[in-house]
Amino acid sequence: MGARLSAPAIAAQRATSSAVHIEVVQETGSTNADLMARAMAGALPALLIAEHQTAGRGRAGRSWLAAPGDALTFSLAWRFSGGAQRLAGLPLAVGVAVAEALARLDVPVQLKWPNDVLKDDGKLAGMLIETQSTAGATLAVIGIGLNLLVPAALEQQIGRAVAAAPWLARMDRNTLMAALLDALVEALSAFELHGFAPFAARWNQYHAWAGQPVRIVDHGATLQQGVAAGVDDSGRLLLDTADGRVAISAGDVSLRLDVR
Ligand code: ATP
Repeated sequence: MGARLSAPAIAAQRATSSAVHIEVVQETGSTNADLMARAMAGALPALLIAEHQTAGRGRAGRSWLAAPGDALTFSLAWRFSGGAQRLAGLPLAVGVAVAEALARLDVPVQLKWPNDVLKDDGKLAGMLIETQSTAGATLAVIGIGLNLLVPAALEQQIGRAVAAAPWLARMDRNTLMAALLDALVEALSAFELHGFAPFAARWNQYHAWAGQPVRIVDHGATLQQGVAAGVDDSGRLLLDTADGRVAISAGDVSLRLDVR
């Protein structure tokens, strides 16, 4: 484990001066749950980082596991104007921000629709976005878990292809967190103004399974099969099926490589 995470060290290493309230806690169940509980009452934007997250969550009630000190687990709460329907492409825009930040740190990654960051075919980072709308505004809490080192026991427990980033594990985690925060702030500010459209081509540059046969599954049932053709201007996955091109909205569906 590198230097301890510290809010002043992260703030000092940011390249931009836009205000973000930063807080580090030793241990919590879920940084997303904590920021969702504060809702709009807390300072915004807010970054909450946990040295150890004991009940990390993925989509649809799945869990996100992390060993203390071997991962970066954090959530960023951000206020957007308008309703939650404006945020459909947000997980993909966040993926672009993370992928570009990691590429600048010499860690090449790919994006798996809708919300995973892959490295060498394993999952390096996952993300969960939760929202709460009030009159005219929506609070988005963007939770990210990034593996630095993955001990064998944890990999076994997860039971799926996971990836680690030993190169990032050797970095000062405050420097890494500052780089990710800067990239996220830039992406969220741009998303607020322009939506997902300006991110589409950038997302497609990182598309993990471009041109490959894939399946869309929901609770184990295959909904669609086709060749992954990238995403459109609203973040829907374009799939070339036997019946022509279809656009899939994220919802809770999952994408799988089709091994035929
Ligand atoms: P998919 O789209 O492939 O179904 P998902 O995006 O729905 O995945 P998430 O909800 O983002 O998955 O994340 C939860 C899943 O991630 C868990 O079910 C588990 O398989 C996997 N997982 C949990 N912890 C880790 C970790 N530290 N590294 C990689 N994968 C993990």
